[in-house]
Amino acid sequence: MANKWVYLFSEGEASMKNLLGGKGANLAEMTNLGLPVPQGFTVTTEACTQYYEDGKKINDEIISQIMENIKNLEEITGKKFGDKENPLLVSVRSGARASMPGMMDTILNLGLNEEVVEALGEKSGNPRWAWDCYRRFIQMFSDVVMEVGKKYFEVLIDKMKEEKGIEQDVDLTADDLKTLANQFKAEYKKMLGTDFPTDPKEQLLAAVTAVFRSWDNPRANIYRRDNDIPYSWGTAVNVQMMAFGNMGETSGTGVAFTRDPATGEKKLMGEFLLNAQGEDVVAGVRTPQHINQLKEVMPEVFEQFIGICSTLENHYRDMQDMEFTIEDKKLYMLQTRNGKRTAFAALKIACDLVDEGMITEEKAVSMIEPRNLDTLLHPTFDAKAIAEATPIAKALAASPGAASGQIVFTAADAKAWAEAGKRVVLVRLETSPEDIEGMKAANGILTVRGGMTSHAAVVARGMGTCCVSGCSEIVMDEENKVFKLAGKEYHEGDVISFDGTTGKIYDGAIPTQEAKIVGEFGRIMEWADKYRTLGVRTNADTPEDARKARELGAEGIGLCRTEHMFFEGDRIDAFREMICSDTVEEREEALAKILPVQQGDFEKLYEALEGHPVTIRFLDPPLHEFVPTDEADIAKLAKTKGKSVEDIKAIIESLHEFNPMMGHRGCRLAVTYPEIAKMQTSAVIRAAINVAKAHPEWSIKPEIMIPLVGEVKELKYVKDMVVETADAEIKAAGVELEYEVGTMIEIPRAALTADEIAKEAEFFCFGTNDLTQMTFGFSRDDAGKFLDAYYDAKIYENDPFSKLDQTAVGRLMEMSIKLGKQSRPNLHVGICGEHGGDPSSVEFCHKIGLDYVSCSPFRVPIARLAAAQAAINNK
Ligand code: ADP
Ligand code: MG
Ligand code: MG
Repeated sequence: MANKWVYLFSEGEASMKNLLGGKGANLAEMTNLGLPVPQGFTVTTEACTQYYEDGKKINDEIISQIMENIKNLEEITGKKFGDKENPLLVSVRSGARASMPGMMDTILNLGLNEEVVEALGEKSGNPRWAWDCYRRFIQMFSDVVMEVGKKYFEVLIDKMKEEKGIEQDVDLTADDLKTLANQFKAEYKKMLGTDFPTDPKEQLLAAVTAVFRSWDNPRANIYRRDNDIPYSWGTAVNVQMMAFGNMGETSGTGVAFTRDPATGEKKLMGEFLLNAQGEDVVAGVRTPQHINQLKEVMPEVFEQFIGICSTLENHYRDMQDMEFTIEDKKLYMLQTRNGKRTAFAALKIACDLVDEGMITEEKAVSMIEPRNLDTLLHPTFDAKAIAEATPIAKALAASPGAASGQIVFTAADAKAWAEAGKRVVLVRLETSPEDIEGMKAANGILTVRGGMTSHAAVVARGMGTCCVSGCSEIVMDEENKVFKLAGKEYHEGDVISFDGTTGKIYDGAIPTQEAKIVGEFGRIMEWADKYRTLGVRTNADTPEDARKARELGAEGIGLCRTEHMFFEGDRIDAFREMICSDTVEEREEALAKILPVQQGDFEKLYEALEGHPVTIRFLDPPLHEFVPTDEADIAKLAKTKGKSVEDIKAIIESLHEFNPMMGHRGCRLAVTYPEIAKMQTSAVIRAAINVAKAHPEWSIKPEIMIPLVGEVKELKYVKDMVVETADAEIKAAGVELEYEVGTMIEIPRAALTADEIAKEAEFFCFGTNDLTQMTFGFSRDDAGKFLDAYYDAKIYENDPFSKLDQTAVGRLMEMSIKLGKQSRPNLHVGICGEHGGDPSSVEFCHKIGLDYVSCSPFRVPIARLAAAQAAINNK
């Protein structure tokens, strides 16, 4: 049988998301539940993939199935495409597996042409409605299908309103709209050189093609990369009979959530507009009414809607985000999905659903998007400072958090200023999908127009960025980059603060404070710890970081970089003296100055960790990173060393390397300067002995990690030295102390010979930053220059430095573990690259049998949750 490319809503169900997309699958599910859904059909995601395979063409088989289903739809609805008596009008809507709000395009009222619209206007006795549909259709079709751009049409509408002296679109009459429609068509012809298509079937195919094409538009590509959505999934297209919210005061359209997406509170949240269509509510053209007002306006419809909300929530067992339209007092459901929510709301909803007996703890843990936790770990306003501050205005609390920074007026400025290291807040009339990157770069977003479901609000919540929307008191002049608020002019670069949890706006800067894991956050984290099997450690070099990480749930330190300790205060002087020494004795003399400070650092770390494991990595970067560049510093060093400035400069020069990343670093330093490794060993062991003495109740077992090993003999050479030194220290102290010596696996050669390496190494830790560099053969610092071209060409979909490349780097890891455990069955294995805090990488680490992941302190809760989800998903 031929492939089935098209499904009627009545043929699908929620489980078919991969094939029908989220929107299509849920429209089918709502149809099956007997809810009032305008009927239609879904062209599958596979058809989209096929479209790209066929060189961006919809093949004949798919076209014929679409046309067949138009016939089916005509039968179901009793309406006919292009008919003058009873025309079928449809919407053409995109819908991928994962929701990508506003990223792809929708066309409404398709099927209209000059003749149909005339007939429709006459028959219905509502010509205003007919012409409103038609002008919207031309506008959307031109924008989406022919990429003419909305701007031209908006200018025409604004001009018309100005001429008529009216403010709102709804005040335009049938004649006005007719004039506009004709102007639009003229504009279309001017821009494209062809007449606006009149044949509904031709319109339909062009629209379906446009939706397929929109899968590959730049903003969708960026959104996908940010949200880990593979390009290969494709989007489905839904063709659905129109429900008209723009027929007058007994019609309307709206969006609603079954629980508050900002706080998680169990109460209906939403907005609607009478006599409106499609995105009017979201676009902020008029200020919408609260959903509860619907009770006053149309009590029966409201009653029915409440019933549907509870049906849907009970069915999906999650908070629902719904779109609906009322056509002359008849309610239609147009969309439902598990609603996007703030991290804060996500935790509350998950806990509430458990308490309501709707879901299990495991389900609750699985429902939380680990990445979103990030927002909860970001600062809020300092409680005292905020209590004392007087707000200058208040608007909608659209996305929680605290923002304080310099004002910028465009997304491009936000990006540029942030890249230059500035904290910025983006202030705009309203935002649109083109602004995504700037919104991401901004500390917070403040808009003049738009409600809780405006673009700015929805996107900010998704990104976890603080947002206050709809501040109509602002008198905005975007062009001149200035606005007035509370009697003051604000220019680019001026500082304001605002609170996305209260909607309050403040003049100037307000200090912020760090977040804590309490309440529902604590509960979810407890459940996560109950279900996860993977350990979570942290990368920390200072006692402060270590303590923060412990608070956030870290079970140890997976990576302490010792080099950072050399930069502080006058240590760097001693270290430079060491580097510029000619003899071993000279070097030892300089190192003797460093030993006690380093020992002190380690003692503080052991104390902060209270007996939990601490892996200390020996010196890793090339020495030239430590030498002075400043003339004064060079002179100072020359003086201490009793050398001439020229001599010192010659030494510095001699440390220059063509490719430092692959140069004299890591364990190579220990091979050439064994004194360094010996000193570090003494510092670790003495610190451990001291802290163990002070706290006999803790079990202190130092883990010494040798970096950048590629050959077992090299590891053995360094390890022998470490063991000799350590044993001598322990003997001299007259105590018992166990310790381990292990290695980083970060050079492919080490991974390939892991069985050999494991004969010496008591543990492995994957340094996936270096391992990724060395496997790909490009450096993290330079890859930015060309990776964009690779994304555009779809060669790579993600930055391998932030999302672990499971194909090759992952294969090396898997191989290492297998080989390593052959030689040493009790080998323990961790990861300490950036990937240790990336959810999908954490899942991979769980699957290949790592003992723990180690990540920066603020990602610890993310890793805990991701580890629990990995355990639950792979049971
Ligand atoms: P998005 O994914 O960006 O939300 P949608 O496909 O959901 O895009 O559609 C955009 C808007 O058009 C929504 O407000 C939706 O409710 C409305 N809409 C879509 N199809 C119809 C239809 N058949 N009848 C009435 N309104 C529709
Ligand atoms: Mg929608
Ligand atoms: Mg490394």
